[in-house]
Amino acid sequence: MEDGRADRPSGKPREKCGVVGVSLAERDAALPTYYALYALQHRGQESAGIVTHDGFQQHQHVEMGLVGDAFDQDDVDALRGSTAIGHVRYPTAGSVDKDCAQPFSVSFKGGALGLSHNGNLVNADEVRDDLAGAGHAFTSDGDTEVIAHDLARNLLESDLVRSVKHTMSRIHGSYALTIMHDDTVLGVRDPQGNRPLIIGELDDGYVLASESSAIDTLDGEIVRDVRPGELVVLHEDGSGFDSYQLVEAENTAHCFFEYVYFARPDSVIDEELVYEVRRDLGRELWAESGTETDVVMPVPDSGRAFASGYAEAASEDGAATEFAEGLMKNRYVGRTFIMPTQEARERAVRLKLNPIKSTVEGKTVTLIDDSIVRGTTSRQLVQLLKDVGAEEVHVRIGAPAIVAPCYMGIDMATREELIAGDQSVDGIAEEIGADSLSYLSTDAVSEAIGKSKDDLCLGCVTGEYPYDIDGEATDRDVERPTIEPPADD
Ligand code: 5GP
Ligand code: MG
Repeated sequence: MEDGRADRPSGKPREKCGVVGVSLAERDAALPTYYALYALQHRGQESAGIVTHDGFQQHQHVEMGLVGDAFDQDDVDALRGSTAIGHVRYPTAGSVDKDCAQPFSVSFKGGALGLSHNGNLVNADEVRDDLAGAGHAFTSDGDTEVIAHDLARNLLESDLVRSVKHTMSRIHGSYALTIMHDDTVLGVRDPQGNRPLIIGELDDGYVLASESSAIDTLDGEIVRDVRPGELVVLHEDGSGFDSYQLVEAENTAHCFFEYVYFARPDSVIDEELVYEVRRDLGRELWAESGTETDVVMPVPDSGRAFASGYAEAASEDGAATEFAEGLMKNRYVGRTFIMPTQEARERAVRLKLNPIKSTVEGKTVTLIDDSIVRGTTSRQLVQLLKDVGAEEVHVRIGAPAIVAPCYMGIDMATREELIAGDQSVDGIAEEIGADSLSYLSTDAVSEAIGKSKDDLCLGCVTGEYPYDIDGEATDRDVERPTIEPPADD
């Protein structure tokens, strides 16, 4: 299959998305939800959607494309009601798939349900088979529908909190969810807290969002992160929220890549400002593998905070390395990573970045990026810098080498596509044409994030995962929840 899906380990799209939930006293919730989705646009550009509830019924608008294109004023106005959930979906290679766009919504005997999911279940097929055996019909192959059906089934027999708990005891994997059951908005985070989810307070209500930058955009105040294994229920009248710690896990498995690449630098995760974590990663990079060159420059924009920390640490050590912007980014080119063919990806890097000759010509250069995945970006940039006269190009990467796929929701390519999947750092340096190449250690990552390695998901850089994934090694005791036999109804 040309779109690259078929050769993914599970054959399914990966979802790395942004979620929102809003509950207000009186005002319609659609507009603030729309703004919050705007703030989370970096987490997903394939589709955007909002589901609201006006106390009587649900209203829904889900469209392909960027938030600003998916909604016009009339669309937002038609979404009545003071509670809402929203979603932006990450694109998967080459595919445009409206069936997978979210929020997912369904009406059933027990009411109306809406669901926004960020993450990826590793036992979705098992739960789906189980539910299909019990008579549930599915319209998509996504995980989200599996969660929605399981929850709907539980809600027929039980109250909200118990139903969520029951669903959590059946699904295994990573999930940050915002859910709407009639006009009640809920937030849930998987027991190991793989994906971020944070609570904010507005003048007239509460908001749940993948990142705090969405709360800032609404002029709200951060309350705190939703805890791993916690269910948060927002009051329908916007007056507060209730918390239920439904599952306790010994360790967390926070995705380190949120700090390295995915989250916005102005977001706060677990009380750490992402920008400062990235600067610390840059400082660690200097400490571990600093090389004095004439200039140090970031790959914009994702390498910028790393390069600034690196340059600062270099100058504290007395190195004459000067921070310089050596690459100009065309900001009207979208993310290039998900282009379907290698040729298109290479062209896109060239469209996106152009060297600034005066800061490069005749100089020794350190080029800093957050990560190398397939190697397309660094290979091309090293060549470009040499073409405009760089004497040496040393590449420094603010994360460890990505050697294995992500099963937890980041669209990261397969093992075969990963440049570090099957070769040494020297081999990669040669392949990208760099005079030297260094990655950061996992110890440095743990240090900069301020969490023990046992509390981070480092699966893509160690090949050992904090979840029980078929055919993969695990780095801790993790048991999949036991699936009860389908009820004989
Ligand atoms: P490569 O060109 O090596 O395949 O990818 C590395 C570049 O892609 C880096 O500049 C990094 O900032 C960016 N990148 C890393 N992970 C992701 C991801 O999951 N999605 C997108 N869109 N870009 C990524
Ligand atoms: Mg980048």
